[in-house]
Amino acid sequence: MSFVNIAQQKQVVSFKQAVLSPIGENRGIYFPQHIKKLDSDVLASKDFNTIAIETLYNLTSGELSKEQLEGMVSRAFNFPVKVHSLEPKQHVLELFHGPTLAFKDFGARFLAECMAHFNKEKSTIVTATSGDTGAAVAHAFHGKPDIDVVILYPEGKISKEQEQLFCTLGSNIHTLKVDGNFDDCQSLVKQAFNDEEVAQALNLNSANSINVARLVAQVCYYTALPALMDASADFPIDRLIVPSGNFGNLTAAMISKAMGAPIKHLIAATNKNDTVPRFFISKQWRPKTTQRTLSNAMDVSQPNNFARILYSYQENWDQLFEDMSAVSINETQTRRTIRQYAQRHYPVDPHTAVGLEVTGTLFKDKKSNDLVVATAHPAKFADVLEDVLQEPVKRPQSILDAMNKTNLSKTLSNEFEDLKDYLLNLSDSHQ
Ligand SMILES: *Cc1c(COP(=O)(O)O)cnc(C)c1O
Repeated sequence: MSFVNIAQQKQVVSFKQAVLSPIGENRGIYFPQHIKKLDSDVLASKDFNTIAIETLYNLTSGELSKEQLEGMVSRAFNFPVKVHSLEPKQHVLELFHGPTLAFKDFGARFLAECMAHFNKEKSTIVTATSGDTGAAVAHAFHGKPDIDVVILYPEGKISKEQEQLFCTLGSNIHTLKVDGNFDDCQSLVKQAFNDEEVAQALNLNSANSINVARLVAQVCYYTALPALMDASADFPIDRLIVPSGNFGNLTAAMISKAMGAPIKHLIAATNKNDTVPRFFISKQWRPKTTQRTLSNAMDVSQPNNFARILYSYQENWDQLFEDMSAVSINETQTRRTIRQYAQRHYPVDPHTAVGLEVTGTLFKDKKSNDLVVATAHPAKFADVLEDVLQEPVKRPQSILDAMNKTNLSKTLSNEFEDLKDYLLNLSDSHQ
């Protein structure tokens, strides 16, 4: 038993239970009950997979053996993680070399490994996406036996590149373009989960972003920082800057620090959706209406994961403020940063730009050893970059290939009966 429900602390469950039923009593989400430090020789290892296996073994309290984890890690994290040093004390952790060019690949791919491992019956994942998460989930589960994935997205409201990345895979990945907006898609998914007939026939599961499998996967690249950086790089990292929306990545960084990762201070960089930066000033939780920005994967005004951070500190405000801070970056600053780094021949996507603005201009401190997390590949947001820079941006081969494939999505109205028919048919076709 290793994961505690933060809304109902008497409920403590295994990793397996937390993965398969991510929402507990009182609609609470889970958090590791005890976070143990890693041995110093593990942290000093030079091999990413070794550190990832030890990190996951530690966080899942040995529920998965090291041999099992070895297979899961090598399949899930089968792409490079790189640190690019812009200056001796200004580094960028590039988490965007996975199949869908954003850090979501780490969490989604490890979640797929966990579900394939724990789920012994045929099941169906139904999820709604406004872009990044759907693509990562589709690629992560593509070809996994006994798991069907149905992804709903709003027709015409995501970029062509994003759509082609996940709607061209086929086999167990089914994509539905909905005549409606993202909220309609989410509401349809909710109705599917509430419909007894559908839930029974398909053994429904969610690939929810708050699943602990995604969280623990994201801890690995922080505990592995010394292995990822040049032998000549300075340690510790004085300030780790994380572009944040739903605060999952920042929560993972916080866990890694507690496990002994050499990080002194964490800074969450948000866009105009600044509920958390305002909270750090006033200790008041006052979400406003969500605003659209250039860094749209961070357009979140009620970040779910922040409850996990507050739970870990138990109102020890002095410690919380010593360990982390939060800054909001506006659109003018984001555009300026995109231009600045393009001129330095290091193009960055709008989410990474929000983080770089913090180290580059806002609190320029030459003595501080800074590391900024790059959450997406610049080409994934080529349309934004082309608009800001007024020049063409090169697409990587994976996007060019996807652009030439056939879009396999089916069209769906925003009536639940249509989705229900579709899902029951899908289940029949597997009998
Ligand atoms: C999801 C996402 C973020 C925000 O990450 P959180 O863990 O939700 O804070 C930042 N950048 C990109 C590119 C993303 O896809």
